[in-house]
Amino acid sequence: MKKLNYAEYIWLDGASPTQELRSKTRMLYHKEGRPLDSFPEWSFDGSSTWQALGRSSDCLLKPAFFTKDPTREGENYIVLCEVLNADSTSHPTNRRADLRRMMEQTAGQDPYIGFEQEYTFFTGELESEKWPMGWPKGGYPSPQGPFYCGIGAGRVYGRHIVEEHSKACEAAGLNIYGVNAEVMPSQWEFQIGYRGEDEPSDPLTMSDHLWVARYLLHRIAEKYGVSVSFSNKPVRGDWNGAGMHTNFSTKSTRDKARGLDAINEAIKNLGAHHLEHIKNYGEGLEDRLTGLHETCHISEFKSGVSNRGASIRIPVATHQQGHGYLEDRRPGANADPYVVSSQLLEAICLG
Ligand code: ADP
Ligand code: MN
Ligand code: MN
Ligand code: MN
Repeated sequence: MKKLNYAEYIWLDGASPTQELRSKTRMLYHKEGRPLDSFPEWSFDGSSTWQALGRSSDCLLKPAFFTKDPTREGENYIVLCEVLNADSTSHPTNRRADLRRMMEQTAGQDPYIGFEQEYTFFTGELESEKWPMGWPKGGYPSPQGPFYCGIGAGRVYGRHIVEEHSKACEAAGLNIYGVNAEVMPSQWEFQIGYRGEDEPSDPLTMSDHLWVARYLLHRIAEKYGVSVSFSNKPVRGDWNGAGMHTNFSTKSTRDKARGLDAINEAIKNLGAHHLEHIKNYGEGLEDRLTGLHETCHISEFKSGVSNRGASIRIPVATHQQGHGYLEDRRPGANADPYVVSSQLLEAICLG
């Protein structure tokens, strides 16, 4: 009997305004050391994903990036795909293609990026029963304070999933940078991005890694009957929202002689694009960017050293050393890293 490799094809659907992950499995005859082009193009029913009409429903999946699949033992893969129309042109929902073009236009600036992905665990079978993991049914835990980077039962919920997810990211070869429990109980963060090491950390590669990491999180939590919310404001009231702070640097901002000048220039360019960025930084951003809970109000643009109430924060180490990176604190947890990356490259690298 021939051995099979399971290839989990994953792609972004046409849900609006927030695209969601979809996946289906392809069994391929085993091949040693597979290159990307050993994964065939495949099709799917675009009329079931808001990407096509029923009478001409085929869309194409074009493999773009792959990793080992850590959720399956053996030689199995996760294959992240771009969605094409039946005539092989790029589908309008294919934001990765936009980022590829932006990367070409800004080549030579050597951008590095790092995403801080916040999210919240929910339990409950029925939609109407969904409530943050560990919270009293229909009630609330004690006020925020002890939970951020908390330790111990009653302070953190779901660490078994978090730990399994970290290991899975590592096994898949993703640039997982770190993990922490967040301010709201049952809320967590993982970071994917530049690790100070000599490895690809560009916006396209890191965005691919982030989408695979999101896939793995959904997939692992699913085993435990837990769902993952990337909502900007998962619970109304005096509870922190969830963001996707995005850290960014270029050859110029990392330059020892004139890094801070380049960072200040970048901030000026970001300020000029504020409204456009806000529109592209995720659904329901206005519920999170209220000026409270470590955010800057959505209608305001400001920057500051070490300031977690600013739109753009200059980390204290960057300020002290005179070079490094900046943190855009505006993107929401449900933002698309392809879109955020494209916006940052356009504003900062093309001016
Ligand atoms: P915070 O203090 O805001 O919580 P974290 O420790 O959670 O920061 O995350 C730091 C992020 O900064 C990581 O995603 C990392 O990849 C990113 N990062 C670090 N250095 C750089 C750099 N030079 N350029 C771009 N991103 C960077
Ligand atoms: Mn962080
Ligand atoms: Mn955080
Ligand atoms: Mn941050």
